[in-house]
Amino acid sequence: MMLVLSVVLGIVPLLGVAWIVLHGSIGTVDGLFMSLILLPLSGILFLNAYLDLRGRSKAKTAVGPLPSAAIATQGMQTPTQLPHHKVKIKKAGQRACNEKNEKGKFCGGHLKRWFYSVDLIEQDCGDAEKAWGLDAEVYRCEHCKTLYLPHPGESVVNVAGQGQISVFGLTLPPK
Ligand SMILES: [Zn+2]
Repeated sequence: MMLVLSVVLGIVPLLGVAWIVLHGSIGTVDGLFMSLILLPLSGILFLNAYLDLRGRSKAKTAVGPLPSAAIATQGMQTPTQLPHHKVKIKKAGQRACNEKNEKGKFCGGHLKRWFYSVDLIEQDCGDAEKAWGLDAEVYRCEHCKTLYLPHPGESVVNVAGQGQISVFGLTLPPK
């Protein structure tokens, strides 16, 4: 609807310009200035129609990958479990454990980066290393030991977020 309206309203100023030209008044100051006003007007409306069209074609292509996104979110809720660990996926910005204990209360333990390849207990178990390789980004609840994989699209190295290195109040650019 907006598209048709934009095109129709864009044609009207053009007709106005054509009328001025046909009447030979383009040479006069009045005709010249009227054309100068009408042309951008029509230009804006056509641009609007063009953007509207482009938005629609984009919306159509965006529909395509939706099913795969649905699969991805399904996979998010239940990541591959390890034999000896409960594995969850961190929500965006999540820093505390949201695992419920047997009383139904949230654990609330801090999620800390877990370097399982240097964890002595984990070296005996070894299933994290088997599943993710030597140094994948994994977080562990310091309280209930539930493992958290990073939120997809959130590649932050630190639990507290990517901070800047500061020495004696001087902020150093990362090397
Ligand atoms: Zn916990």
